[in-house]
Amino acid sequence: MSALNPTMRVGDQIAEALRHNLELSRKQASERAVSMLEMVRVPDAPRRARAFPHEMSGGMRQRVVIAIALCCNPLLIVADEPTTALDVTIQAQILTLIGDLCRQTGAALILVSHDFGVVSRLATRVAVMYAGQIIERGSTREIFEEPLHPYTRGLIGAMPELGSRFATGQDRLPEILGSLPDLLSPPTGCRFADRCPEVHAACSAPPPDVALREDRRVKCWLYADDQ
Ligand code: SF4
Repeated sequence: MSALNPTMRVGDQIAEALRHNLELSRKQASERAVSMLEMVRVPDAPRRARAFPHEMSGGMRQRVVIAIALCCNPLLIVADEPTTALDVTIQAQILTLIGDLCRQTGAALILVSHDFGVVSRLATRVAVMYAGQIIERGSTREIFEEPLHPYTRGLIGAMPELGSRFATGQDRLPEILGSLPDLLSPPTGCRFADRCPEVHAACSAPPPDVALREDRRVKCWLYADDQ
């Protein structure tokens, strides 16, 4: 919502990135800006390129920002909560767009999100973080179908399914009790220990990062052979 310059037309903002990075002429950059708007499926792109950000909806502004991110042919895109402020319908359109564009351009995507629905749609591999550490990683299927770390299991257990007793308000949604540790003086052992239903004596020491298979890891004493 605030990434665009409110005093500049959106086409000029895309062209600015192109001229700065690719040394294009003003005319070449303007033409490429319009084609970038077409690429991110902004209707009537030549006219919309002359609009100011406040004349566009949230979803359209998001597309402009994606066009700026893609216009210099990046190899890697870091998308940090790319759809947070959008309603669910527009969110679905933007996620489809990001996925399509990455496939078309060959760019890799690092997606940062707290929303498992978004993660399951876009990611092929997932790293789950807790209190500043990666505590589990694996393929998206492995994480959703076979979560190993008690924190990941708690997160997935707290997702209501459509029509479930939790979604219909007939029962209480499971929650992870407690709150995050103080990251200025984190616990010396497992950072999740105060909230973990499976905490035991070994957890007062830092848990090992256990490799179960290639690129399938979990940072928890439950999976260490020598616990
Ligand atoms: S190391 Fe211990 S406290 Fe930490 S997640 Fe594993 S079982 Fe729970």
